[in-house]
Amino acid sequence: MKRTNENRRSHVFGKTKSWKRTKRHITYDVKDIKDKIDIVKLINAYVDLQQSGSCYQGVCPFHRENHPSFTVYPETRSWYCFGCGEGGDVIDFIRLIEDLDFNQALRKLGKYTSINL
Ligand SMILES: [Zn+2]
Repeated sequence: MKRTNENRRSHVFGKTKSWKRTKRHITYDVKDIKDKIDIVKLINAYVDLQQSGSCYQGVCPFHRENHPSFTVYPETRSWYCFGCGEGGDVIDFIRLIEDLDFNQALRKLGKYTSINL
């Protein structure tokens, strides 16, 4: 990936608006997907995670680093990178790592959980 952090940040920020617009209609599905997906298992398919207490850590896929600062919190079904400040839920992760918009990410995760969207 050659994009800089700054570019990606504004790119993500721009997509936040459409996320808010579409959120209302699919709130139930989003919650359903978040409840059904094992965030550790999903992210572990992209990032090599090591358990560390109640959370999991790995080398961040969104910025260059040697020491793992990318952290996944199974309890809150969220993730956060202390190195670059990216973070969110499973949907945010798929959006960023696959470069999808919110609906595309939802569809992908829907397939993953066998929910028809
Ligand atoms: Zn990072």
